[in-house]
Amino acid sequence: MSFKTDQESLRTWFLASKRALPWRENPNPYRVLVSEVMLQQTRADVVIDYFNRWMQQFPTVQELAEASIETVLKAWEGLGYYSRARNLHQAAKILLSGFPTDYQGWINIKGVGPYTANAILSFAYHQPVVAMDANVQRVLSRYFETFDLKWAEKEATKDLSRENPEEIAEGLIELGATICTPKPFCELCPLKKGCRSFFNHTIANYPAKKILKKPKSVYKKVILFQYENRFGVYRSKPKELFADLYRFFEKDLSPHAYQNLIYEQHQSPFKEVRSTATTFQFFLFPVIEKTGFLNQELEFYTLTECLKLPFTSGHKKILHQLLALNLKQDQEW
Ligand code: SF4
Repeated sequence: MSFKTDQESLRTWFLASKRALPWRENPNPYRVLVSEVMLQQTRADVVIDYFNRWMQQFPTVQELAEASIETVLKAWEGLGYYSRARNLHQAAKILLSGFPTDYQGWINIKGVGPYTANAILSFAYHQPVVAMDANVQRVLSRYFETFDLKWAEKEATKDLSRENPEEIAEGLIELGATICTPKPFCELCPLKKGCRSFFNHTIANYPAKKILKKPKSVYKKVILFQYENRFGVYRSKPKELFADLYRFFEKDLSPHAYQNLIYEQHQSPFKEVRSTATTFQFFLFPVIEKTGFLNQELEFYTLTECLKLPFTSGHKKILHQLLALNLKQDQEW
């Protein structure tokens, strides 16, 4: 058995059992690009609603290119890794002049990596390429019993069917997401006849284990400056970590000072908020401070206005705590 023959079992299995995902309908290059960028760091079940809303708001590349960056970031709010949204917005402006039909054309677009480029060429243009996401890497590493993922990609691509090759490429992704999972269900697998690590009982060795870096803990006091019924917010500068996203005012604290703050605020109606971004884990504790003047570094908005702004995920949770308090206390904020 080889991948050449096994892939037909994979195709049959995929066509019979593939999940109904919205981006699989009408997979034009724009829809594939958006879905693949959304899926880069987010689970498919979470992406479904975002994708559907996105396509209602920006049904074509033109609508996305013409939208303001604030509108785009607001639509992305909650998905995290906002550089993906900024890159998509930039890509849309470039793609107005036409969609590339080859690998080099796509890879030159910021935010499009080898996986996304191949996914677009496969799903939208039906070219015989394999899109190697982490799931496919796991499948092929086990199937060929190798740590050399480049070689595994070449092997699979060399034998890839020229008839609807996108069904095989997508079948590999689906297999990795549902059957060849970290703890695989080999008895159900359409590739098991030719899978070398299944045959040799070496599945646990593949793929190579990645050493995950522990995120760095960052502790912050979040000061909610309140001027009458408005709150001070800060828009991050383009070069900062949360470029163009809004936050309340933050003050860095040592772990010790942060523990003291929580101790002092044990009767506070606010709760600690935790969020992660890139290699950081943020510990945020909000505190209200009424102010008699408008701080020049901040923009002041009512809570209703704040809801329309794109916030970082941690600060969005704080905004929702503020809103809940507002409703509970029935105050005129
Ligand atoms: S037989 Fe098991 S290890 Fe091999 S590809 Fe299938 S699920 Fe993965």
